[in-house]
Amino acid sequence: MTTQLIHLYRPVGRQSYRDGWAHLNPSEYVCSVKATAPEVVRERDWDEPSDGGAYVQYARIPAGASKRDKRHILDAIRALGGSGCRHEYDCCGCRSTHFRAKFISSRQVRIEFSVSFNY
Ligand SMILES: [Zn+2]
Repeated sequence: MTTQLIHLYRPVGRQSYRDGWAHLNPSEYVCSVKATAPEVVRERDWDEPSDGGAYVQYARIPAGASKRDKRHILDAIRALGGSGCRHEYDCCGCRSTHFRAKFISSRQVRIEFSVSFNY
């Protein structure tokens, strides 16, 4: 199975920018995790143009993470979501994602994300 390396950054300080400019917000590198390839948990509904389905993947975190490190990892995974959209009108079709994450064992995180399109 293919794995992906995900570099995690958690938001720190004031988050003044949104959407297409969110990368300008201050963040701090947390760690990099190896994750399984996303698997479909809910298929995209092709009759609903805004729906992009939902996916799950599992990540293994580095050994020796403290409670605080783990909290930062969850914060950083949740921060992966969002949209790169810079349009000022609706229905541009841009993709956005929403991430949820929780520990299922001491080093395994279940990551679920849903995809939607701006319609
Ligand atoms: Zn857009």
